[in-house]
Amino acid sequence: MACRPHPRAVKIDDHDLMNILETVTLRDGSKRKLKCDSDQLNSLKTIQSVPELTQLFDAVATEEDIRKFLWRHRHDYMPFKGVVLPIFYDESMPFRDHDPLAYEASKSDAELRVHVYDALNRFLPILPDILAGFEEQFQETTAKLPSLETEREEEIRTEIVTREVTNRIIQMYSEDGLRKVVNTITSRAGDLVVPALASIFSIWKYGALQFGRKHLENLLVSSRQSYEEYHRTLKQLADRFCLLSPATSLVWCTQCRKHPQSYFAVASQDPPVSTCPVCKSEMAVGTFYYPKSPLAKLLDARDGLLGTTVHWSLRESGRSWAPGVYVEGLADDTEKDAVFQMEDENEIGIVESKVHHLDSPGRTLESQIREDLNQLSNHWRTYDKADIHVSSAYLVTNIPQCVGASVVDNILSLKEFSEIPCDIEVFYPETFEDFRDIISEE
Ligand SMILES: [Zn+2]
Repeated sequence: MACRPHPRAVKIDDHDLMNILETVTLRDGSKRKLKCDSDQLNSLKTIQSVPELTQLFDAVATEEDIRKFLWRHRHDYMPFKGVVLPIFYDESMPFRDHDPLAYEASKSDAELRVHVYDALNRFLPILPDILAGFEEQFQETTAKLPSLETEREEEIRTEIVTREVTNRIIQMYSEDGLRKVVNTITSRAGDLVVPALASIFSIWKYGALQFGRKHLENLLVSSRQSYEEYHRTLKQLADRFCLLSPATSLVWCTQCRKHPQSYFAVASQDPPVSTCPVCKSEMAVGTFYYPKSPLAKLLDARDGLLGTTVHWSLRESGRSWAPGVYVEGLADDTEKDAVFQMEDENEIGIVESKVHHLDSPGRTLESQIREDLNQLSNHWRTYDKADIHVSSAYLVTNIPQCVGASVVDNILSLKEFSEIPCDIEVFYPETFEDFRDIISEE
């Protein structure tokens, strides 16, 4: 299903809609002002004004699969080191035979050796230079990617992202890139350049497929999802919420081995559906997706989409609350990810949101939970010293329950935690709905 562009954003300026907590009451009854993070409030306003995002966050709040898919550390989405470009990958016929592509690549490789050995000898030494040039160009362009909000700008961004993804993945397929490469090589390798390039392209199709599958494997590890869960969630984000778009698809016939059939499709509305021109069977498709700008921006937030989900849920809870909080005039105060008003007006709750790299070993994740809980208890102590009564302290993390639950009980039974007169709880992607139940006002 093709997606419609987002409806133009409607600006909502009414702060009251957010139900922001502006003061906190000390034990002696006096009040202190709170300062909160306006960038994070603006993120919520964006969500309120883009229907696809509102629907998405309603779903994130209630659907575990979507939380697992989107509550990742932002670097886990990025296959290129140092380049801020989240990408997803999926196949129409998951993990179908790639032998024809491998064969196409090896055949080209063989031809290359037979026919253009001499050219290759002259070409290979300069290849790193050419790729380095691409890398530079690519980083420069993505660094300039503007943060865009209107429809027109979304179009421009789509164009840029598509072009850059294509350039980076296929390296030499764009016309400009091709011209540059041809120019460079021709001056070194003369008339032997054409067969060499054709062969390199074939090798790259196989390379792109392997690249996509490797990235998918990493995504599955970092989300702790099965492939079926991942696939279903990705389809929802693309079709139901219109927040993921295909950038580049590799299409190949899994049947034709003798004369392999394959091609790249760039910037199609949907992944292409193709019949093999030789054997007439349906061709397999591997597609690279990118998140559209409103989602891309949220994924890039410091606490990822998890932090925003926590804020969204607090905003929905009916309680007064605030994101990114400092207490005015409080020395040595550190930022609290969120605070909210308890039933008793003289008490507040605090929430710490933590997104970790989930491809770390279990032991590392356990020690991260310990650090997170230490931070939470320090938050409690700072407030307690300032005579602010915190009766609940919650940690929301993307660490899976099966890893966290086994250590959290032990940590909380330690003296430094058990002596804190406050309800301390940890919520995981699997139990986030319990957090929503606890904070929602009856
Ligand atoms: Zn075929």
